[in-house]
Amino acid sequence: MGGNFDYIEVKDMDREKIAQVWAHQVEQSRYEDGRSYSGQIGMLSEEIGGWHDLGLDYSAAQEWLSDNHNKWEPALAVSYYAQPKPEINVKALAKISVHQKSIADLVESYKKAYTDMTDAFKSAKSNMVGCKTCNSKLNRTYLKPMPSHSSYNLERGVQNLGTQGYFCPVCKSSLQTDSQIERLRKIVAKIQPHLDKIKELSAVKREFVKDPNQKHWLIGGWCPS
Ligand SMILES: [Zn+2]
Repeated sequence: MGGNFDYIEVKDMDREKIAQVWAHQVEQSRYEDGRSYSGQIGMLSEEIGGWHDLGLDYSAAQEWLSDNHNKWEPALAVSYYAQPKPEINVKALAKISVHQKSIADLVESYKKAYTDMTDAFKSAKSNMVGCKTCNSKLNRTYLKPMPSHSSYNLERGVQNLGTQGYFCPVCKSSLQTDSQIERLRKIVAKIQPHLDKIKELSAVKREFVKDPNQKHWLIGGWCPS
């Protein structure tokens, strides 16, 4: 013989009226589900065994009822405040969009700096270029740059943004000047703090408000099954 957790939800009103709703629902359950180990509220008494005006949120009220009601005892009533699922609050959303705009601007300037860098390499007068790392002499016209990635996300951050440009096919070192690479790195470094801030703001949820118009009761408990 087991137990099934069952309850009803009733909007706050006169307790006498709530008790009437409960008794009616118990009768209804007996009619629909039977009187023998149905696992439904029809297995509980028509009387409410105790009122607990705790004003919890919905899931806490469910938990409280499940923890505090004993099978074969009359149903318990516990109050809660119904409200929509917590969402990112409005102020946080406004701040997030400011950071998103900053990131979009930084990505634009990154793309521009990347194009400036590779254009400068392509348009150099001399056809030959020397690799400072392995001393290879390379023909500029056959070289291809690393693609410019503008992908980033909140989890991975910005480490995937390419900063190498043209590179030596022999030793894979960048053929761009240090100052060109530095310009790109500086832009990339400015993106990460905005991503961090967005992550932080996304966690700011609307507060749990005890709105008297949203007060309800959970009534029920463990029903023999
Ligand atoms: Zn090299």
